[in-house]
Order: sequence, then C-alpha cells, then structure tokens
Amino acid sequence: MSEVLAALRVLAELDHALHHLSGRLADLDQDELVLQDRLRAEDQAMARRREEHRKLRQSALDRTAEADATDAKIREYQHKLDHEIISYKEMEFLREQVKLLRARLDQLSEEALRLMDAVEEDAKKLAEEEQRHQERRAKLTEELQALGKKREALQQEKAALEARREEALGRLPPLVRQRYEQLRARYPDPVVYVDGQACSGCHLRLSEATMLKLREGREVVTCENCSRFLLLRW
Ligand SMILES: [Zn+2]
Repeated sequence: MSEVLAALRVLAELDHALHHLSGRLADLDQDELVLQDRLRAEDQAMARRREEHRKLRQSALDRTAEADATDAKIREYQHKLDHEIISYKEMEFLREQVKLLRARLDQLSEEALRLMDAVEEDAKKLAEEEQRHQERRAKLTEELQALGKKREALQQEKAALEARREEALGRLPPLVRQRYEQLRARYPDPVVYVDGQACSGCHLRLSEATMLKLREGREVVTCENCSRFLLLRW
C-alpha cells in the first residue's frame, strides 16, 4: 500500500508542478503578445515617418518639374517672338505672357529650392530616426528571441514532467488511477494532507474511523466529504 500512496503523492506533486508550469507558459504568451504589439507599433510609426518624407520629396520634385515646364514655355514663346513673323496683337500677347511666366518661374524656383533644402534637412533627421528605430527594433527582437528560448526550456520541462506523470500513473492500480483522474478534473489538488484532524482540501473534520484507517496505512483513504485522497504527512 505504501507504494500506491507514494505514487499518488508523486503524481499530485507532478500535477502541481505542471499546473504551475502552465501558468508560466500562459504568462510567457502574454509577454510575447505585448512585445509583438510594440514591435508592430514601432514598424508602423516608422513606415508613417518614411511616407511623410517621401511626400515631402515628391512635392519638391513636383515643384521642380513645374518650374522646368514654365521655363520651357518661356523659351517657346521667346522663340516665336524672336524668329517668327507674327501679328502685333499676338506679339503683345506673347510678351505679356513671358512677363507673367517669368514672375511665376521666379516664384516656383524659389519654392523648389526651399523644398529641396527641407528635403535634405529632413533626410538627415530621418536617417537618425531610422537608426534609433533599428536599435529599438533589434532590442525588441532580442527580447522576443529570449522569450522563445524560455518557452522552449519550459516546454522541455513540461514534457519531462508529463513523462514522469505517465510513469507514476502506471504504478497505480486501475481503480485508483481512474479515481485520481476523476478528482483531478474537479480539483486542482486531488491528493491532500491531513491538517490536524481535518481534510486540507475541504477543511472539514474527518471521522475517527477515517483517521484510524489513515494511521494504519493499509489502504488508500479518501475524504468522506470531498473524496480527495488523504495523506497523513506531505
Ligand atoms: Zn475533504
């Protein structure tokens, strides 16, 4: 009988350890989700920042292209004025247009230069931000990898505990094993010690008859109230 009791005790300890391990694995999952969220937010923020820079660069390019087009138009009109035979009315019109376009070109060139300067300055800032982003990213990735390793270790530990559990279960008589599994589905602690003269699972006082059977140690004893297996000493 003492061997069955010993196997029950080992089983209960293993299940307790497995329960604890499951909790640690769940915590790990939670930590991993938090880290993944942070990584995602980090990447999204950087993507927005790159897009902002791309738009600024595009607006500088657009303004430059507009200036080039205006310049081409001025040349075209000037060529007409210089080399073609045109009416006085048309000449007056083209001269007026050239004047207007030159003013516009000055404005566009100034804007294009200002935007190019802004792009250059922003590119420097972006490069610094990119570096800090990569540093933060590397740190988060490292933390995630560390979590992965921890999980691997815990899972190995779990597999070892489960193997020992199977072995302990195999040492129990079929009826006791069945009873244990039934109790385990109901309570986190199917095997409890006796505290004074009370079951430490349900805290109710045990009868003298139960106490006597326990002291004799000849059979597996269960609590008359909650049915948990009872042990005299833990
Ligand atoms: Zn009880």
